[in-house]
Amino acid sequence: MSAKITEFSIEGVTVSELIESYGDPLYVYNETKMTAQYNRITSAFSGANLKVNYACKALNNINVLRHFKKLGSGLDTVSIQEVELGLEAGFKPEDIIFTPNGVSIEEISQGVAYGVRVNIDNLSILEQFGALYGDTYPVCIRLNPHINAGGNANISVGHIDSKFGISIHQTRHLERMVKSLGIRVNGMHMHTGSDILDVDVFLRGAELLLNIAKDFDDLDYIDFGSGFKVAYKQDDISTDIEELGKKMTAMFSEFCDDYGKNLQIEFEPGKFLVSEAGYFLCSVNALKQTTATVFAHVNTGLNHLIRPMLYGAYHHITNGNNPSGKNRVYTVVGYICETDTFASDRLISEIKEGDVLVFHNAGAYCFAMSNNYNSRYRPAEVLIRDEKPFLIRKRETMEDLLRNQILIDQES
Ligand SMILES: *Cc1c(COP(=O)(O)O)cnc(C)c1O
Repeated sequence: MSAKITEFSIEGVTVSELIESYGDPLYVYNETKMTAQYNRITSAFSGANLKVNYACKALNNINVLRHFKKLGSGLDTVSIQEVELGLEAGFKPEDIIFTPNGVSIEEISQGVAYGVRVNIDNLSILEQFGALYGDTYPVCIRLNPHINAGGNANISVGHIDSKFGISIHQTRHLERMVKSLGIRVNGMHMHTGSDILDVDVFLRGAELLLNIAKDFDDLDYIDFGSGFKVAYKQDDISTDIEELGKKMTAMFSEFCDDYGKNLQIEFEPGKFLVSEAGYFLCSVNALKQTTATVFAHVNTGLNHLIRPMLYGAYHHITNGNNPSGKNRVYTVVGYICETDTFASDRLISEIKEGDVLVFHNAGAYCFAMSNNYNSRYRPAEVLIRDEKPFLIRKRETMEDLLRNQILIDQES
């Protein structure tokens, strides 16, 4: 009993209880934290006609989608499959915005058939859309204001070389196309993708968007995308959502006064809503002392959590069995036959073989990017609701690996 008290726990549920019940590696999400983050945005923008669309590519478990729906959120989707998942979760088509990049007009048309809001980010596709639908189906336009309010170039999508959005320098062309094809533009959108470190830079991008929006008379909403950053380590910078809310509400209400209509202001956060709610639990298989370092080999790898290897993301690691022991230096590596280093030269409370390591900020872009490389099963997912754990996705089995494979007769 006394050992338990020193263990790491999530909403009162200890890591050993979780691992005993569900095995590991394991993703665990704290629903209360998701709610708190959602409420932070709605209070920051309480003075505006706000709509939040949860960007479900961050974490697409249907229970998470249903939770955000219950809170009153809409859904931001980037593929027709995400649209279908949203409908399955019970979202009304008009509460789903479909913002794909580089897809065919056929996929856009499927979105139209479902009745969801369609957001187009390419003049060629817009032209085809106009030819097909004229003014019979409204459309949102994704513009690229070419701002970069943050640091990490790998996740910034607003810069001049970016493949996303229609450049604001093509506005004349856009206006001509809309006019001649009679396209009904009811929304304007931007998503710069970068972590917003500087609220004022973001506001400048928003101002550029509004400056173009004023020339379109049929708008119902303006969507400023996301890029809301959360802290990944102690003393890390995060987006000051309260400051952003105050400044943007003022700016937007002034715009609406001039425009003559109280438009809806929309955002589509993923990371902000779910990142900090998530934990990834795994066990230490072996410690390996080399001449250079001490490796902690864990029973997972880039197949389950690829962000550190894909774009150098930092995930804080706690020793779940011994969170407050003496710190020592470790290099935490996976079991995949590739270099899959989770953390180099990391101070972690003294590790014994068999200890459970807890990765923080594992809600966004973690399980969602997992795969079966090395024929490993994807982990189970658990949701903690009101301090009680619920299994929301089973661990995979050999059946899952073989499901779509077709045996043909062997060569004789
Ligand atoms: C990925 C994405 C988001 C969410 O971004 P976060 O950084 O997770 O908040 C929002 N909108 C669009 C169009 C996206 O592609």
